[in-house]
Amino acid sequence: MFDCYNRKINYLRISITDRCNLRCIYCMPEEGVPLIGHHLIMPYEEIVKVVREAVTLGIDKVRLTGGEPLVRRGVEDLVAMIAAIPGIRDFGLTTNGTLLEKFAPILKKAGLHRVNISLDAVNPTHYRELTRGGDVEQVFRGIEAAKQAGLTPVKINCVVQHSSEEQDAREVREYCRMHNLEIRFIHQMSLEDGCFTTVENGDGGDCSRCSRLRLTANGKIKPCLFNDIEFDIHELGIREALVQAINLKPEKGTVNTVNAFNNIGG
Ligand code: SAM
Ligand code: SF4
Repeated sequence: MFDCYNRKINYLRISITDRCNLRCIYCMPEEGVPLIGHHLIMPYEEIVKVVREAVTLGIDKVRLTGGEPLVRRGVEDLVAMIAAIPGIRDFGLTTNGTLLEKFAPILKKAGLHRVNISLDAVNPTHYRELTRGGDVEQVFRGIEAAKQAGLTPVKINCVVQHSSEEQDAREVREYCRMHNLEIRFIHQMSLEDGCFTTVENGDGGDCSRCSRLRLTANGKIKPCLFNDIEFDIHELGIREALVQAINLKPEKGTVNTVNAFNNIGG
């Protein structure tokens, strides 16, 4: 489907949980965030219904995100159900990579096409500080496992504070060069302040070419990361929520005061 600004909407990003095993300093406070009650988190069957409906409206690209998608129990079952839907040409998952060593072969077998892995520093101390406790070696093993499993092309998301020339970013770039990985630099954003820019090497952040819808873990369709509007699948029904989200997708992002990265998935 096309929106009012003639943008083709074909990409659905799904946050399957707001929970995470890390606490990246730009994403979550150390003590965590108030979590969505378990009873409000969409069951897998409901997510699959949304994807099926979305495909009939022209969605052919789907990405699972979070929170950390790999902390939700049975994620491989969801992957298998979505992979079985005809019409999805690109099916990816964004992860911090810490649990990927175990999950990569399982996800590949379930039908996932590829993964994006977040890595902001390769220096173990810096990584631990940025993520408040993460072990970068786990991520390295996860990246290898993803390559071995064929979840390719493996892409690395690297959040930078000011520029892709800062020390950690340069080191991540060098690591990617040595390991034959694609890299995209994302400038640290603030949803509340409406502070966002385009993604270096990627296609996020350019409103005039935006093809995305988002689905939050509690069933709201968001047509824009930088806007408060959302359409509740439980109030409106799945199809109506999707259609309204497409028809009312804002021309440009401004501010989002109701969501945070950890519940909308970036
Ligand atoms: N936990 C997974 C991960 O870290 O890849 C998936 C969810 S995370 C919210 C998705 C992406 O959003 C990650 O690449 C993360 O670095 C990015 N992100 C989180 N907070 C951000 C912020 N304030 N500015 C820019 N990107 C951010
Ligand atoms: Fe967790 Fe990803 Fe947010 Fe880091 S960026 S705290 S890994 S959801």
